[in-house]
Amino acid sequence: MFDVAVIGAGITGTFIARELSKYQLRVLMIEKDNDIANGTTKANSAIVHAGYDVLQGTLKAQLNVKGNKMYEEVCRELQVPFKRIGSLVIAFNNNEIKLLEELYKRGLSNGVPDMEILSRERVLALEPNLNDDVIGALYAKTAGIVGPWELAIALAENALENGVELFLNSTVTGIKKIKDFYCVKAGNQDINTKLVINCAGIYADKINDMVSDIHFKMLPFKGEYNLFDKNAGDMVNTIIFRCPSDAGKGVVILPTVHGNLLIGPTSELVDSKDALQTTSEGLKFIQQHTKLTLKGINFGNVITSFTGLRAKTMLHDFIIEEAEDALGFINVAGIDSPGLTAAPAIAEYVLNLIKHRLGNIQKNEKFSSSRRPNINFMELSVEEKRKIIQKDPKFGRIICRCEGITEGEIIDVIHRKPGAKTLDGVKRRARPGSGRCQGGFCTPRVMEIIARELGIDITEVVKDGLDSYILTGETK
Ligand SMILES: Cc1cc2nc3c(=O)[nH]c(=O)nc-3n(C[C@H](O)[C@H](O)[C@H](O)COP(=O)(O)OP(=O)(O)OC[C@H]3O[C@@H](n4cnc5c(N)ncnc54)[C@H](O)[C@@H]3O)c2cc1C
Repeated sequence: MFDVAVIGAGITGTFIARELSKYQLRVLMIEKDNDIANGTTKANSAIVHAGYDVLQGTLKAQLNVKGNKMYEEVCRELQVPFKRIGSLVIAFNNNEIKLLEELYKRGLSNGVPDMEILSRERVLALEPNLNDDVIGALYAKTAGIVGPWELAIALAENALENGVELFLNSTVTGIKKIKDFYCVKAGNQDINTKLVINCAGIYADKINDMVSDIHFKMLPFKGEYNLFDKNAGDMVNTIIFRCPSDAGKGVVILPTVHGNLLIGPTSELVDSKDALQTTSEGLKFIQQHTKLTLKGINFGNVITSFTGLRAKTMLHDFIIEEAEDALGFINVAGIDSPGLTAAPAIAEYVLNLIKHRLGNIQKNEKFSSSRRPNINFMELSVEEKRKIIQKDPKFGRIICRCEGITEGEIIDVIHRKPGAKTLDGVKRRARPGSGRCQGGFCTPRVMEIIARELGIDITEVVKDGLDSYILTGETK
């Protein structure tokens, strides 16, 4: 019998699982996909928002501002890239200046520190590539950028090392209440658990409906992006927002933690939870809007495009509560933006709900907050490189020429917990295939390494999802 089953291994599920691993609880994470962070967590703007635009009095506002403050510590403990680079909301006319003043006031009432409204000169001094028509901006120094899937993978690794269990490839298809516990059908297993935490992202409504008669609906809102080569990464120094409108926060321009430039997202309600294709209209929209904001941007430097799906509800707030008609079943639903930012605070909030249900839970005295850092060969000194190659010559073989990733780094991420088993799983952990050629050169090499290390045939290596086979068989 598990104490807690967490459904969904995105950023919310992994933060909660790691938080629970600080206590003497038997915890299981259940994920339908073959890896951590394969849902919305792998496709978003990666911003740790300051918290001035969320409506006062909402759970979103409370958990955004609290979560933002928690980022330094957790990213330091788990050695995940996080940079507090600040954000600007830029204004091009007097009406927009009034909006900035409203956002500033809202920020103050939400408890956001370190904000100021900047003059045109100060904005252009910070961001010389902005359009000259800019007349002012709201500067929020506490906004930051993070590696979202790196963080979720690191949280999962740390949770597993502290005793949490994980079932991948296990779609939850039914949940039954039996006396004072639940039986969760996941893949071909029946799992008994005292509590269930629903962190299933855009499918959270489906999971809720398996247990509760109080329904809500997840509305998938599509957001498309362009990712630029690192040679465009210094076009901006901070996160640049346009003034928000009814259509949302608008197209955002920002550097990534790895030094690329990211521009997007669009915002469109779609009727399918699988609508992950990019569209020529969406990408054209991004281009047109970027040109209104930035001078001299060259779309020839785009190296890839992708789409994420926001899990919105009609309530416009997070739903984090025990279902009224299903004690022990806790929804963590409607986690759209700023869900990534709020996730550490969501985990603490959920812990309190669990304490309320389970009573006094004992601390796990063996809990360790850190993990062995990922090896980043290119960031080592010459002496460190020499030593690591001497110890293992596989660190002397470069597999991804664009990013300078070695065979040793790839082997390391395949054998960590939860190890990479797919091409994109390796890419998200060690970055081969993330550079300008997007895996054009290294894909066959990485596939060979995965097959060899996992002891499988190379035709069994998938790109990402369960059936995304790359090779069909030998031609000769
Ligand atoms: C375009 C866009 C931009 C965004 N930008 C930002 C931003 O800059 N900053 C910010 O703070 N937030 C941002 N967000 C929001 C943020 O990305 C999300 O709040 C966050 O990723 C949600 O994480 P999650 O773990 O709740 O959901 P997910 O990452 O979707 O995880 C849910 C998991 O549940 C699994 N699952 C679903 N059904 C089942 C089942 N039946 N059985 C087992 N497993 C199941 C899925 O496979 C998935 O892995 C953005 C979102 C989008 C779409």
